[in-house]
Formats: sequence, C-alpha cells, structure tokens
Amino acid sequence: MSFSSLVSDITYRDSEREEQRSQLSRARSYASTAATSVSITGDISSQLHGGYSHPLARAWQAERQLTKSMLIYPLFISDNPDDETIIPSLPGQKRWGLNKLVSLLTPLVAKGLRSVILFGVPTAPNAKDALGTAADDPKGPVTLAIRLLRKRFPSLYIVADVCLCEYTSHGHCGILRDDGSLNNALSVERISDVAIAYAEAGAHCVAPSDMNDGRIRAIKLKLIESGIAHQVLLMSYSAKFSGCLYGPFRDAAGSSPSFGDRRCYQLPPGGRGLARRAIVRDIKEGADVIMVKPASQFLDIISDAKELGKDMPVAAYQVSGEYAMIHAAANAGVFDLKTMAFEATEGILRAGATIVVSYFTPQFLDWLSS
Ligand SMILES: [Zn+2]
Repeated sequence: MSFSSLVSDITYRDSEREEQRSQLSRARSYASTAATSVSITGDISSQLHGGYSHPLARAWQAERQLTKSMLIYPLFISDNPDDETIIPSLPGQKRWGLNKLVSLLTPLVAKGLRSVILFGVPTAPNAKDALGTAADDPKGPVTLAIRLLRKRFPSLYIVADVCLCEYTSHGHCGILRDDGSLNNALSVERISDVAIAYAEAGAHCVAPSDMNDGRIRAIKLKLIESGIAHQVLLMSYSAKFSGCLYGPFRDAAGSSPSFGDRRCYQLPPGGRGLARRAIVRDIKEGADVIMVKPASQFLDIISDAKELGKDMPVAAYQVSGEYAMIHAAANAGVFDLKTMAFEATEGILRAGATIVVSYFTPQFLDWLSS
C-alpha cells in the first residue's frame, strides 16, 4: 500500500467511525427525546410495576392490611365442663367445656389473640324449652365462660352472641306463635333480657344474631336502663342472610330448627335492598358495629354496609361453610390452604370490613407472626 493510499484509507476509516459515532449519538438523542415525549404526552400512567415490585410495596397497595386485632375467634361452649368434642364438618374446631377453656386460650392469647365470640351449646337432656330459658341461666355455659375469661384473660375482648336457637326446643331464633311463626314482641323482650344478662356478666360486646325486628333498639334501651350502655358495645348482625353455608355451625351448636327454616327472618340471598334497609334501621336503633354474614358471597353487602355506616366499624362473619369449603378444596389439592385463607380474608377487608369473625383465627395468629 502506498503512503498516499494508506493516508486515504485511515482518513476514510476515521470518517466512517465519525459517521458511526454521530449515528449513535443521534439514536441516543432520539431515544431520549422519545422518552421525554412519552412523559410529556401522559402515557406514563401505563407504568405500574415499580409500585409493587417489593413485598412491602405490595402490602402498601392494600387499603386495609389484616392485623391480629381485626380477628374474632368463634368458640362453642358446651354445658359439659370437660367437653372437647371434635366437630367433623368444621375441621380443627371443637366444642369446649369450661374446664378446657384456659388451656385452649392461654397459648392463643400469648400469640396475640384479642377477641372471642361465644356460642352456648346445651347438651344436657331437657336443657331446651320453648322459651330458651337456658340462654341466660346464671349457671349456663356462656355466662360462666364470660366470668371465667374476664378473670383469667383480662386483655381478651369478650363478645357474646345473643340468640335463642341453641336453647329452644324448636330451634328457632325467638318465641313462636301457635302457628309456628315468630312472635316478634315476645322474642324481642326475651332476646334483650338475654343480652343484658351477658352484659352484666361482663361481656364487652353483645351481638344479637336472631334477626327479630326491633331488637337493637330494645337492647340499647335496656343497656341504658341498666346503667351499662357506656361500657358495652352493641354489634348487630344486621345483614344476616339465610342459606346453606351455616350447616357446619348447626352441627357444632346443635341449633338446627326442628321444623321449617329461618327464611322468614334471615334475609333472602338476593335481597340487597332489604339488607341496606336493615343496616340503616340498625344504625338508627343504636348499633355500634354492623355485621354482614356470610362474608365472601356477600362482598357487595359489606361494601354497602361501609357506605351506609361510613362512620362505623363493619364486621363480617366468614361462616362455617366458607371455612369448610376452603378446607375441602385445599384437601382436594385445588389450592394452598394458607394462600386461600389470606385471599378470602383480604377480599372481605377490601370490600370494607375491619373486623372479621373467622375460624382461621388461630392459624392467622401464627401466619401473621412469621
Ligand atoms: Zn339463632
């Protein structure tokens, strides 16, 4: 290669490199301009991944995160003091006698259990009658359990479910007329007496689940009359729907009606407007907390309850059938139990509840600690 051609070749390569450099720079400049123009034109809203790339950032996306203080654990208290009976349709749950309660609850309270709801289960022969007399028997399982738990677990918040169906010979949630329908006036009178008996025994909260018209007003008035309204919370099962999801509960509590069903006082599953009216009524009658039951099949109602009672806490009862379904599906390999328990409960919170009555409570105490 001659000197002149070598010079010309180098010059050519230099100019080629220069050309490449300038092309790269133009490309960079174009990319930068394109990115800037994306931000300027507003398409930036398409970029979401950065907001939930980290586990903590994902948790922050929830309006409400599940905490231990949101959970209420349902307990079935039998009149047999040494009872510890497995309930086959309600996996992992038992009927407990009074003598078993302290050893059951001591480790749970240590793990952060804040609240329980008590249901009485009379098992003795002749324990039931037409008036549900055993419901507020001072020596009955619920009254004794309230006194025991208040003494042994001072930090535990005690909710007493108030109903007659566990105690009536006919298994309905009130006092009946001769034709088998509910006598509303007598039922409300009796239910409100039972609520006051539980409150006077020391329950922090009374929760009537009977669905009789006007019982919230009657209970609130009697709490005022008794001088304890200032220290007892009234939680109303305002929107309690009838249906097949209560099956395992009835096995546990022995509360199946001996004839007919509860469709004349529990709400029809399609009755959203009726539920809204019941919620508004109970707020006006003095309820402190509104409850929706069942939960996952009625998320729209939970959302309605939050809208109608926007200044009050909303509770949701994830009922026995919901719990049993999740267990059955997990056992069948459909999904992982813990993952579904969280998904179902987070759905309930997303809908608007901040209190969840759940049979998963003991497991959540472990899961939320890890
Ligand atoms: Zn009932």
